Amino acid sequence: MSLVIIGTIAYDAIETPFGKTDKIVGGAATFAGLAASYLYDRVKLVGVVGEDFGDDNLDILRSKGINLDGVQIKEGEKSFFWSGKYHNDMNSRDTLVTELNVLADFDPIVPDSYQDCEYLLLGNLTPQVQLTTLDRLQRKPKLVVLDTMNFWMDIALDDLLRVLKRVDVLTINDAEARQLSGEYSLVKAAEKIRQLGPKYLIIKKGEHGALLFGGDRIFAAPALPLAEVYDPTGAGDAFAGGFVGYLAKVGTVNFNNMKNAVIFGSALASFCVEQFGTERLRELDGNLINERIARFTELSKFEIEG
Ligand code: AMP
Repeated sequence: MSLVIIGTIAYDAIETPFGKTDKIVGGAATFAGLAASYLYDRVKLVGVVGEDFGDDNLDILRSKGINLDGVQIKEGEKSFFWSGKYHNDMNSRDTLVTELNVLADFDPIVPDSYQDCEYLLLGNLTPQVQLTTLDRLQRKPKLVVLDTMNFWMDIALDDLLRVLKRVDVLTINDAEARQLSGEYSLVKAAEKIRQLGPKYLIIKKGEHGALLFGGDRIFAAPALPLAEVYDPTGAGDAFAGGFVGYLAKVGTVNFNNMKNAVIFGSALASFCVEQFGTERLRELDGNLINERIARFTELSKFEIEG
């Protein structure tokens, strides 16, 4: 049994009030895969890079035991490139450049060794590719989680609506939930979005935490208050990886486990933003993660006397 993750494997150039980077390793599948690898040991990636993507960069993923049989390396082509600049509040950013490069005509390969997929994370990339990946799995996974962003709502909404019909969980941020539903109230937005397909919806609210909607229940998870956020890039992907990695580890999907999964996702995201790019996510271990989970528990635990 395995957890398969598809998404971009990219070069990013990032500017935050704390500094600026040249091309560094990023991408939705990179952040999600690293996060999931600390919770579950059978993580397999589907993706594509150009020949400019150094093998040492792929080693960052291999060193965490992540299977890269489904990652294609395209000779003579360039990797997906994204560049973004964060505003002072760190909750909002401008995308400066999105160069699709290898992603423009990406035809995903799902190797035979991935057909044991039980948990599937359709991480952020072209909705058409997310659909093709689903089609190429011979057996429907136990749980399909979809992550996406406003970019795809703007340029590929019809395909995105088609994927939505086939997934169990959608994770998006508050602005994207409002854009997708046309509703300002997140409760109304959640109601409308769940009518599009996913039984469960997670709305991420940056430093204000996340909301999980399922059946007639809502769970609110805090974000860890951090003195310094260096670079929020990848926080959403780390959240998704931590969320699905936890569910793959416990092996049973229900609302209670999803609540815990949201906390694990939030914990991995809180590490992610502490340094630029993937730096912090590369150096974690089980103890650090458990300590952080304990801080999350403490943060919102209360008892009402009498
Ligand atoms: P997040 O901060 O969670 O939205 O994720 C940022 C990561 O997503 C960066 O490493 C980018 O390489 C990647 N990314 C940016 N734009 C896109 C896009 N349109 N599709 C897929 N991945 C993207």
